[in-house]
Amino acid sequence: MIIKPRFESEELKVLRYLYRRLELSAKDENHYLNLEKGTAGELQFDRMLENLPDDWIHLNDLLLENNNTMFQIDAVLISSNTIYIFEVKNYEGDYYIENERWYSLTSKAEIKSPLLQLQRSETLLRGILKELGFNIPIKPNLVFVNPGFQLYQAPKNLSAIFPAQLNRFIEKLKDTPAATKARNMRFAEQLISRCLKENPYLRIPEYTYEQLEKGIPCLSCSSFLAPFRQGTLICKECGSKEELESAVLRSVDEFRTLFPERKVTSNDIYEWCSIISSTKVIQRILSRNYEIRGHGKYSFYVSKQDQN
Ligand SMILES: [Zn+2]
Repeated sequence: MIIKPRFESEELKVLRYLYRRLELSAKDENHYLNLEKGTAGELQFDRMLENLPDDWIHLNDLLLENNNTMFQIDAVLISSNTIYIFEVKNYEGDYYIENERWYSLTSKAEIKSPLLQLQRSETLLRGILKELGFNIPIKPNLVFVNPGFQLYQAPKNLSAIFPAQLNRFIEKLKDTPAATKARNMRFAEQLISRCLKENPYLRIPEYTYEQLEKGIPCLSCSSFLAPFRQGTLICKECGSKEELESAVLRSVDEFRTLFPERKVTSNDIYEWCSIISSTKVIQRILSRNYEIRGHGKYSFYVSKQDQN
């Protein structure tokens, strides 16, 4: 059972919105695309783990700290006598290992060793286990999910699961008795309670409201939708359709994520969407879905969940 689900990171959300509305530097763009790819890989692995029997304790995306050192684990499985930790990589292309260093075969450039990253997480997690009084072995695994990945000169004993081995690995786990013990559940809960809420080291470029391109990007292909009159919004690029209300609410979400300090007003959202015929339409949608505060031209909208 999944005790801790995976949430999309704030960093990825912001970068995804900025990517469509701002010319990112090559470095930021690269960082964003890597994040997007990494997340897709993690979700792919999540779907495979969903096939496990319900007595497996399954935790996702743990951001922890031990000895003032922060570390992140993509996925954790707890069975009766082993803790499996997974570092999931969606690498594509050819790589090789030489003298314990990892390189891309095409560019010959050295990449950060995922193995070192995994070993570091293992050591730090072991420290936490000891602190919590749990004496249970940790089994670290690198997981490569992309079928287009090839690693040369990998030592035979590398703790890695390659794409062609993934199904077999899951099948093997299915045959392993997980037998949830109350003790393990307690440990999982303690681990979750130690998780940090947000990574303080986000890499988001600076941006201002004025810099960003206004409009509503298509839900499917991200190109900006054309000015709109009535009925359903239809993307000229890919033909996908969306109800006006859903498109506006999506834009409000983007606005609130990108500018959490700004008030949501109908005028701002009108400008932000840029293709809606009048502020009246925006007002109608906002008042149906948000709580209105203040009066007249000073009124603004807050989410019905956080009304404080
Ligand atoms: Zn489209």
